[in-house]
Formats: sequence, C-alpha cells, structure tokens
Amino acid sequence: MTQPVFRFAPSPNGLLHLGHAYSALLNQRMAEESDGRFLLRIEDIDTTRCTPELERQMIEDLRWLGLSWEEPVRRQSQHFADYREALDTLIEAGLVYPAFMSRGEVRARIEEWARGGREWPHDPDGTPLYPQDERSMPESERHRRIAEGEPFAWRLNVQKAMARYGKDLYWEESGAGPEGETGRVAADPTLWGDVVIARKETPTSYHLSVVIDDALQGITHVVRGRDLFHATTMHRLLQEILGLPVPLYHHHDLILDEHGRKLSKSRGDTALASLRQAGMQPEDIRRQVDL
Ligand code: GLU
Repeated sequence: MTQPVFRFAPSPNGLLHLGHAYSALLNQRMAEESDGRFLLRIEDIDTTRCTPELERQMIEDLRWLGLSWEEPVRRQSQHFADYREALDTLIEAGLVYPAFMSRGEVRARIEEWARGGREWPHDPDGTPLYPQDERSMPESERHRRIAEGEPFAWRLNVQKAMARYGKDLYWEESGAGPEGETGRVAADPTLWGDVVIARKETPTSYHLSVVIDDALQGITHVVRGRDLFHATTMHRLLQEILGLPVPLYHHHDLILDEHGRKLSKSRGDTALASLRQAGMQPEDIRRQVDL
C-alpha cells in the first residue's frame, strides 16, 4: 500500500483565521493517524494579492500552532511552467477557447436575457455563468482579436469536455457536502459553466493549478473546507482530461462566527495573529476547534 500524503494549501492573501487552524490541524492529525506524510503548499498564483509578508506571517502562525511539514514547500508562483504545459494540452485538444467579453459585456448580456423574463443560471458560489456565445467564434476572428492585442482568458468549453470525458464522473467522499453528500458522489461540472482555466496576467487558475499540484505532489487525501465541495466536480473533470490520479476527498465542517457566518480573511478578530496577541495559547486554539 502506498503511504498516504496529505496537504494543507492556503493562499497568503490575508491573515489565517480559526477555520484555517482547524483545517491544518485536521490534516496533520489524519496524516499522523494513518502514518502518512503532511505537506504545506502555498497557493499564491494571484501575485498581486499574495505577498511575501503575508506568507511570512502565515508560516509563523502555523509554526506557532505546532505544525511541521516537509521541506521544500511547493510555492505555486514558482511553477507557472507546469500549468502552462497543461494549458497547452487543453488548447491542443480544442477544449478551451479564448474568451474576450468584458465584465460589462457579460452584465449586458445577462440583462438582455432577464428582460425576456428568463432566469440566468448561477454557479454554486452564486456567480452568473459565463455566456456561451464565444464557443463557436470562427478561428479567423479569434486569431485576429488575439493578434490585435485584445485581452482574453482561456475558458473551458464544459459541454465539449463533458461530451468527451464526462461519463461516470464521481469521487469518494469521507467527509460531507452541504447537503450531507458522502460516499460515492457524482460530479456535475456543468454547474460551473465555462470556468476560467488561465488568464493573461495569471497564466493558470485555482482549478488548474490545484489538480496539477495534487498530482505532482502525489496527494492521496484532499482534506479541506466544505466551501470547496462543489469545486471538486470541476477538479474531477480536469483530472480526467489530463489523465491525473484521483485522490480521496474529505470536506470538513466550516468554523462559523457567533452569527453563523463563514469566517473571512478580511475580518481581523478571528485572525490567529490577533488571538495570539490577545494571549491565547496553541492549546486554546485546539480546544476551540475541537482537536
Ligand atoms: N488555496 C485554497 C484556499 O485557500 C484551498 C485549496 C484547496 O485546499 O484545494 O481556499
């Protein structure tokens, strides 16, 4: 049997809070209980919001909590070439297309639709799906617009990808989804529509880099918050297209505030750094997240 490999994969775009502490500690505990390895991965593809100072603070918080991980740590911003290679595979397979619509154009398209009394579909995070108009843009027009320097993003043609790779897509879930989904869960990536796979200023996306890295790092168990449960449907599709191994998934409870709301990185009061400054000890944090 292969040794289990777990990872905690935060983005240094804000301060870590109690929810991150729970996720990191749970990963470490599950790794220990199964004689597995525990890795830290820094998901910093957004090089404007992720800063070295926030990364330093993040590592300090995790060390203070008593976590230790294998070195060297994988930092996504140092591996854009790996994601580019996967993007090229998707381009060659004709499964992504250049998407040129600006935010305003998308909004106008949705408003026009709504005037007909019809409801525009939204993804599981509540964002309107990207219009499908450009799926069938003639190649000559694509080339011309790219050559003229028009900004664009590469988007997945989810319909085409599903037709080729979407048969019997599922994953094994040992935690639970928002509706209590567990065990063998059927994946429906069409919920997300034509997601962004890469941008001009960031030549990858969360969905693409996470599946590439989980595969390159040999991750066998993905343990993360329930807010990423539905993202797994898209990860399964990309793994299928790119021929990547499929880890087991465990989506855990989210730590909520006193009003039942998800914690956020922009709120200082539950930041580990503030709790520490207020005199809390790592044991207090463990007790608070029940680990
Ligand atoms: N980087 C993501 C986040 O901070 C987590 C990615 C994952 O665990 O798959 O929300």
